Amino acid sequence: MTKRTQLKLATVNGTELIKIEQVVKTFSNAAGEFTALRGIDLTLNRGEFVAIIGKSGSGKSTLLNMLTGIDHPTAGKVLVDGIDIYAQSESKRSLWRGRNLGIVFQFFQLLPMLNLLENVMLPMDYVGMYDVDERPKRAMELLRMVGLEEQAQKLPRAASTGQQQSAAIARALSTDAPIIVADEPTGNLDSRSANHIIDLFTELSERGKTIVMVTHDSTMTQRTSRTVVISDGQLVNETIAQALPLLSQPLMKELSNKAEKINFAPNETIIRSKDPVQKFFMIISGKVDVVLHGRGKDDLTVSQLERNDFFGEIELMRGGKSVASVRAAEDTPVELLAISREDFYWLMGESPLTEKAIGNIVQKRLDEQKQADRRKRKRLFG
Ligand code: ADP
Ligand code: MG
Repeated sequence: MTKRTQLKLATVNGTELIKIEQVVKTFSNAAGEFTALRGIDLTLNRGEFVAIIGKSGSGKSTLLNMLTGIDHPTAGKVLVDGIDIYAQSESKRSLWRGRNLGIVFQFFQLLPMLNLLENVMLPMDYVGMYDVDERPKRAMELLRMVGLEEQAQKLPRAASTGQQQSAAIARALSTDAPIIVADEPTGNLDSRSANHIIDLFTELSERGKTIVMVTHDSTMTQRTSRTVVISDGQLVNETIAQALPLLSQPLMKELSNKAEKINFAPNETIIRSKDPVQKFFMIISGKVDVVLHGRGKDDLTVSQLERNDFFGEIELMRGGKSVASVRAAEDTPVELLAISREDFYWLMGESPLTEKAIGNIVQKRLDEQKQADRRKRKRLFG
């Protein structure tokens, strides 16, 4: 019975698993209404190890509660493996959650009258997984994995905060659930223990589990396969977060609202040389070739840009017409995110750090173009 309702793994790595559609969450209480999530769209794939980052109060925990089915969205849908989780009854959803999700809560939520070993065994009892005699052994193995074998008999209040957090992580793994959802799981750990937990999560994701981890520690994101930034209840466009990492999170969010998507077919021209450039472009997917048309007859491809690279900045920063043409590469279509010239100037005014970083790239690219042009002329004229 447990087999039937647990999700299939590994064989379908990389395919869509969790789909959050237009989720809004408004809290109402005596003080009035507060909208913590303002229309979230997010798709997570099997086997991904995703970090959700954002400032305190930005809506990270609220978002996790939406995808675990712990709290209802005010509007929108959450689909997990094609199942609309809020279309199920509360009792069905709770059993479904037990089998398919391992959850590490921000404040652990260990049961105070059970020792750490018993706390880890609890989810196995709840969903009826593993033989009764096997459960203590399995729980002990998990405690060993998080470095707590010596503390197994301790009650939570006798354990340190870090030990309680590690026990909560062991508990989340106890039913071998295909999805692990963790709210600041390393927040109370020293850096060595934190790294150990991230190693563990990495290994689990390589074996096909999907891991969603909230953290406010942006250095953690170097170790995950994907980072999602949330700011004031809105997701930041992931291309913007990667292409312009020096922007503040509120600026990233504002820019996400100003940007528009544009598609190009393979080989299609995006910017014609000598035309004025009206937009700043970032690459969502596909590749583009930057081509110089010199005095010689042949075109010269000076560089190929890919996902999260940007272009158009040379002309926008220096004024004037395009020095090169830019076109979609031959083999795949290109999806771009564009912002208008006015919004680009607004952005540079708001973020001097980004302006400086882009200025450096302009210089580097112009040098590269000059060198490429020189090499080409040398070839042509000896
Ligand atoms: P984060 O986890 O990013 O720190 P949360 O998701 O916990 O943020 O909270 C986002 C916002 O929603 C905060 O302003 C918080 O005060 C508010 N909020 C969260 N839960 C409730 C609730 N039950 N009632 C009212 N407001 C809430
Ligand atoms: Mg939180």
